[in-house]
Amino acid sequence: MIRQEEITARLVQFFKEYLDENENLTYLNQLREILTTSPKRSMEINWEHLSAFNPELAGELLENPEDVILAAEDAIQIVLQEEFFKKNPPKIHARFYGLPKTYSIKEVGVENINKFIQIEGIVARTGGIKTFSPRITFICEDCGYTMIRIQKPFGKAIKPRKCENCGGKEIEIDTNESQFLDIQQIWIQDTSDKRTKIKAILLDDLVDTVSTKDKIIATGILRIVPKEKRSPIIFEKLLEVNHITKQAKTEGQT
Ligand SMILES: [Zn+2]
Repeated sequence: MIRQEEITARLVQFFKEYLDENENLTYLNQLREILTTSPKRSMEINWEHLSAFNPELAGELLENPEDVILAAEDAIQIVLQEEFFKKNPPKIHARFYGLPKTYSIKEVGVENINKFIQIEGIVARTGGIKTFSPRITFICEDCGYTMIRIQKPFGKAIKPRKCENCGGKEIEIDTNESQFLDIQQIWIQDTSDKRTKIKAILLDDLVDTVSTKDKIIATGILRIVPKEKRSPIIFEKLLEVNHITKQAKTEGQT
């Protein structure tokens, strides 16, 4: 495993120096566009470019995606500060596509848990848009001490048991100081077997970008979560989506 600071430094270099076949600085150009003409909250990164620039790092993304995606988002902040002189750069997501292997929903297995994978399937159902807090600030009702907890978009909320300052148990969420994002669940079915589905989570700018029957290619981190409260031994797979490409609308399939 490569150290986190080393990953960030290499990604900074990749974003600053990567030249495509036409000698364009692909990622610097994309960031310039995000800052000026097309305000977006994501940068799209082709895995093949990363693999050509630094194969070890491209492999690390597949094996250790949570750390590499966070490092890429840190690297984007550094590039925005160093190349575009932004003092408080906007938060930009790092979204990777173009992985070397595409799995059908049926092929996704336990060996993929916590790995970065690319799947192909058909959107079977989309859920409503809800609100998720990736970073909750808790406040002690007794002494006013605040505690920040980073949250995952699956599983249970992480909450302090008691105040770290006074030991008080009356702890509330401070909504003014917490971060909030849109979140949506969708279900993606296998292209040849509609009984086989996987649940997927879309966050922020990915929310409401696909609809039922869309054929999609998605990348993301495969997670496993208990299926029901009453049966903790049954788990289900869930894809924490990083990037979505819409292909065509499928006809006549439900
Ligand atoms: Zn307290």
